Amino acid sequence: MPKPGFKSITVSENVYRKFFNAYAKNKKELEFKGITSFSGYLTSMMEEIMKKYEANGLHAPFMEKILIGHNSVIIKDNKINRIAEITLRDNELQCLLDDRNDCVHVGFVYSLPELYFMLKPKEIKRSMDL
Ligand SMILES: [Zn+2]
Repeated sequence: MPKPGFKSITVSENVYRKFFNAYAKNKKELEFKGITSFSGYLTSMMEEIMKKYEANGLHAPFMEKILIGHNSVIIKDNKINRIAEITLRDNELQCLLDDRNDCVHVGFVYSLPELYFMLKPKEIKRSMDL
């Protein structure tokens, strides 16, 4: 039984050995970072990975681009679990799902660097002047 405030997990011997070998190999270096035990090493690694996941929104990205076409972008809204198509009409993005030009989907597409392949330089300038 782990001591209060701690939980134990079970991993296969293979996984354990892999991590333990990595720990043993870098033991000296890790001590400089204040990591003095194998469980401390695992904890710091898990925290690091979690930070990366959160920073990249890898858990469940709110919006995903599915397809970028000539005049439209297909995105998936994971919050409502729907596919939305955003088209370029009269130099303005229009969401066909919401029938709006100012919803979260349009905002997401404006944030895509690929959008600038769809718009001609003159058109970008005009839409930024608005
Ligand atoms: Zn929308």
